Amino acid sequence: MTAGAKILDGKALAQKLQDSLKKEVAQLKREYGSVPHLVNIMIGKEPSACAYANSQQKVAEYIGISYDLETLPANVTQKDLVAFIKKLDAEGSVHGVMLHKPVPAHIDYRAVGNQITPVKDMEGVNVANIGKMILGDTRIIPCTPAAVMEHIHSTGVSLRGKEAVVVGHSEIVGKPLSMLLLAENATVTVCHIATSEAGKLTEHIARADVLVVAVGKPAIIKGDWIKQGAVVIDVGINKLDSRIVGDVEFESARKRASFITPVPGGVGPVTVVMLMRNGIETFKAQHEMKKVSI
Ligand code: NAD
Repeated sequence: MTAGAKILDGKALAQKLQDSLKKEVAQLKREYGSVPHLVNIMIGKEPSACAYANSQQKVAEYIGISYDLETLPANVTQKDLVAFIKKLDAEGSVHGVMLHKPVPAHIDYRAVGNQITPVKDMEGVNVANIGKMILGDTRIIPCTPAAVMEHIHSTGVSLRGKEAVVVGHSEIVGKPLSMLLLAENATVTVCHIATSEAGKLTEHIARADVLVVAVGKPAIIKGDWIKQGAVVIDVGINKLDSRIVGDVEFESARKRASFITPVPGGVGPVTVVMLMRNGIETFKAQHEMKKVSI
């Protein structure tokens, strides 16, 4: 019987990771005489997107990275957006480019994301980077799955041979995460809406040594479904009345889990640091390419 889960404090983990990246950026500055310069392209001014961009700005400043937010009008055409991205891609002083989500309905995010040159793709959305990740090159990986992996690593629990169950199979969380878990030799099951419809969700969850939930429905996962001693990572962010809650019923789940992330304050704070880590990796990759071509 687990006495009660250890809470995985995302703010503390984010701070530790930021401190390490700050040192790395100072070292890169000594080595190359410059720091990563990242550009976030936002279309329109949706309040939650602005809040996320603000937190990116703060983390970038702390780490010592140069960060620009470029806001384009909500009615920008896809053609003009791609031309803007191509212009940034051509600028030697820009090391990382991202397109802030959500984008308006008239923009095809996948198609535009593929226009970001892979070596500047700081969110890992270009299919070339997705393909590399599937083949085990995890240098640039989508930020939320990367944050989940940092939380799991922080527990000290090895994934090798463990049953890892991911609930949610979105392109930004569940699918890439399943590949990262597999890369560490977990036995991975990915559940989704059809798993629930088939009445199979609870039986998969009951086997999970490591359970990651990214659904977007408040407290959809009940505490008594969870295996005793499981590591539980809750990616969900839901507004319930005036509170933010996760996808896991926290109070009952913490009685069974060995480790659990809170919402808010779990995966979220680490995600933005992972974005900066990717930006540093794009900077390094571009400098390595220059060395090879000299
Ligand atoms: P999405 O809407 O793209 O995908 C939802 C997934 O949940 C799908 O795979 C769907 O099949 C599955 N699903 C829906 N209902 C289900 C059910 N009843 N049973 C089982 N599976 C079900 O969502 P997303 O973009 O992956 O986001 C998921 C959640 O994670 C949201 O709350 C989002 O806000 C949050 N999120 C958090 C971060 C972060 O950094 N913390 C980042 C991205 C997303």
